[in-house]
Amino acid sequence: MNSGFIPIVDLRSLNKAPAVPANLESAKGFLSDALGRPLQDLRISVTDRCNFRCVYCMPKEVFGPDYRYLPHSNVLSFEEITRIAKIFVEHGVRKIRLTGGEPLLRKNIERLVEMLSALTLPDGQALDLALITNGSLLAQKAQALKNAGLKRVTVSLDALDDPTFRSMNDVDFPVADVLRGIDAAHQAGLGQIKINMVVKKGMNDHQILPMARHFKATPFVLRFIEFMDVGTSNGWKMDDVISSAEVIRRINADMPLEEIEPNYRGETAERWRYRDGSGEIGVISSVTKAFCGDCTRARLSTEGRLITCLFASRGHDLRALLRSEKSDAEISTAVAHVWRARTDRYSELRAKNTADMAQTERRIEMSYIGG
Ligand code: SAM
Ligand code: SF4
Ligand code: SF4
Repeated sequence: MNSGFIPIVDLRSLNKAPAVPANLESAKGFLSDALGRPLQDLRISVTDRCNFRCVYCMPKEVFGPDYRYLPHSNVLSFEEITRIAKIFVEHGVRKIRLTGGEPLLRKNIERLVEMLSALTLPDGQALDLALITNGSLLAQKAQALKNAGLKRVTVSLDALDDPTFRSMNDVDFPVADVLRGIDAAHQAGLGQIKINMVVKKGMNDHQILPMARHFKATPFVLRFIEFMDVGTSNGWKMDDVISSAEVIRRINADMPLEEIEPNYRGETAERWRYRDGSGEIGVISSVTKAFCGDCTRARLSTEGRLITCLFASRGHDLRALLRSEKSDAEISTAVAHVWRARTDRYSELRAKNTADMAQTERRIEMSYIGG
């Protein structure tokens, strides 16, 4: 049988601890990589487990009953996450986003939010602490997360039509429960809530207009994401991608749009607003428009690998350092050296080469580093 899926290759052991240089340095609140990109964002995956089997992320054919998730002892503890997060904040990280797998499946996640929200930036400002979720447990957890200090939440939602949503998540989860979660987050006062829709041709692209209409003139900002060739298990083909340009074309034909300025340098979404003044949408063109030049993001995997690009095939084992006798100054110096040496720009290179390179390398799965 040719299902189009490539069996997962376990790359989780291909990671070495970064060297700890003899000359220790103190963090200066700013770190620049080899291409001049500052370290500003950290995405932390708190679990590799998920209660959904989204067809583009954790297809059932690969993530079936026999799939081996990380044992608990391999997963970073809240204390370890907070210790490493503090080191990143001292190097200039201003925004931390908790992700997964499904982050709300991690037991007592509110406690981690509380611990991270106590971190302050070198200039005394508060950390921008956000979380991305599939929304399935949000109705229950929104208030506790807000009380713990969470600032913002992004909810992934791929369709409004219930049968389409159920076939995208592939566990028959009803869309109404996610919509209740979004409302609960809003009621709890969780900042400006973003809704992320991954568009896969032939599966949910007929939902582009219904989603746009539903979230128009609401407090929620809908963002359309191009289906990416992340990992190697989702059977990605360029033919399955609906470009952001096409998304804009379809919406604009029905509800006229105009482009607006980004909020800040390095913003991944291009912003568009409705000409009738009823709000804005975003498009994230990870495939058709590379934004590596402004990529200020580091990722910390569930078991503590520092990953400097979403498309990397390996990471730097910070857990080995955290669980050794190394001091904060030693770990901080090692992190600084990794970031300074960073040259990743996969999407730019893909744009220059062909889409074929997408499936020729073995890469880390999205559910392991969380997008
Ligand atoms: N489970 C949470 C969720 O779905 O929001 C957090 C983790 S999920 C890996 C983070 C984001 O990555 C989600 O918005 C998801 O839609 C997106 N994503 C996963 N696989 C993707 C792919 N192949 N292309 C584009 N986005 C993808
Ligand atoms: Fe789970 Fe999120 Fe991946 Fe869907 S996108 S399978 S909800 S981790
Ligand atoms: Fe950043 Fe890598 Fe994505 Fe380029 S391909 S934007 S370097 S994560």
